[in-house]
Amino acid sequence: MARYRTLDTRLVHAGTPEPRVGGAVVTPIFQSSTYEMDGAAEYDAIRYLRLSTTPTHAALTARLAAIEGAEAALVCASGMAAISVTLLGLLSAGDHLLAQDQVYGGTASLLGEDLPRLGIAVTRVNATRPDAWAAALRPETRLFYVEGLTNPLLEVTVVAAVAAFCREHGLLAVIDNTFLSPVNLRPLEHGFHLVLHSATKYLNGHSDLVAGAVAGSAELVARVLHAQNHLGGSLDAHACFLLDRGLKTLALRVRRQNQTALALARALAGHPAVRRVRYPGLPEHPGHARAAELFDGFGGMLAFEAASARAAERFLDAVQLAVHAPSLGGVETLVVRPSRSSHAGLSPEARAALGITDATIRVSVGLEDPDELIEDFGAALG
Ligand SMILES: *Cc1c(COP(=O)(O)O)cnc(C)c1O
Repeated sequence: MARYRTLDTRLVHAGTPEPRVGGAVVTPIFQSSTYEMDGAAEYDAIRYLRLSTTPTHAALTARLAAIEGAEAALVCASGMAAISVTLLGLLSAGDHLLAQDQVYGGTASLLGEDLPRLGIAVTRVNATRPDAWAAALRPETRLFYVEGLTNPLLEVTVVAAVAAFCREHGLLAVIDNTFLSPVNLRPLEHGFHLVLHSATKYLNGHSDLVAGAVAGSAELVARVLHAQNHLGGSLDAHACFLLDRGLKTLALRVRRQNQTALALARALAGHPAVRRVRYPGLPEHPGHARAAELFDGFGGMLAFEAASARAAERFLDAVQLAVHAPSLGGVETLVVRPSRSSHAGLSPEARAALGITDATIRVSVGLEDPDELIEDFGAALG
């Protein structure tokens, strides 16, 4: 395969089969569940949709591996499938893992309910405080699980310190990098063993499918894929095709979303009806210096605090361009109150401890014209 030097070029060309299938510029969808046995009748040579061994999967996972700088990648039926199959594939009863205190809600339930039920112990730690980690280690600790940028308050994880701690203590370093995408951060370059994504979000980018991705060394990805083959959460061929199509414009989309997010964050910070803005691109954000050093761009996500819960409700009713909906990373700007969506399962006290109130609004910045979007937010804030 040709060697593509830059992320932008890899996004467009990596993974394309050589020669192209029937000369088609775009790799076709192989809508076939099963394939002829070719020669060696070994299990590993079987091409079957659940085993992710179809030509559609091969093209997509080669593109994903290339953009993460990984040896290999696999795709899953959702982001949660990527997370659960990774942890179930790498851990056994009796093992222990460290996990960041603030993680995606579905992940928090997996860590808090399902893994303990299977005999896998979890200790939650503050991923911005490396001095507190060693005390949580046990002889049976195997893995450290973090997110690059937390939801919804956008804390910046000390990525290099997590990787260094894992190297020192022989742990697997695993990161959910959904909020940043490989355009903003490529964690394998910083020493992580596996990077996971809800490909539903930025990687696909069009709010029209649910998918997950895992990238890392060939050995680790093979172990995770082995578990997925049994657990069954593989990605359908048509969804693979859509995700592969979405990926081609990832860099263009994310860079534009980053620019608009910065402009919107600045405008909101200067608005009298806004109490506080959280965006790593603003100098007053506690993680700004770290983000500036680590990230290529500050991401397309921000959060702000309206004057009151009532004001937040009025804003959500009044805003015209942004859609009031959960999820993120699409071409449409989405706004949501975490207290009514991702963090609705927590008690008000637990939310307050995290810094989330009924007036907190999370924004996933889309591809609308930045000035028009800023005007719309301003008008809706009254
Ligand atoms: C959405 C999300 C997930 C779960 O992804 P699904 O595709 O909905 O299963 C996991 N982690 C983060 C950070 C997310 O934003």
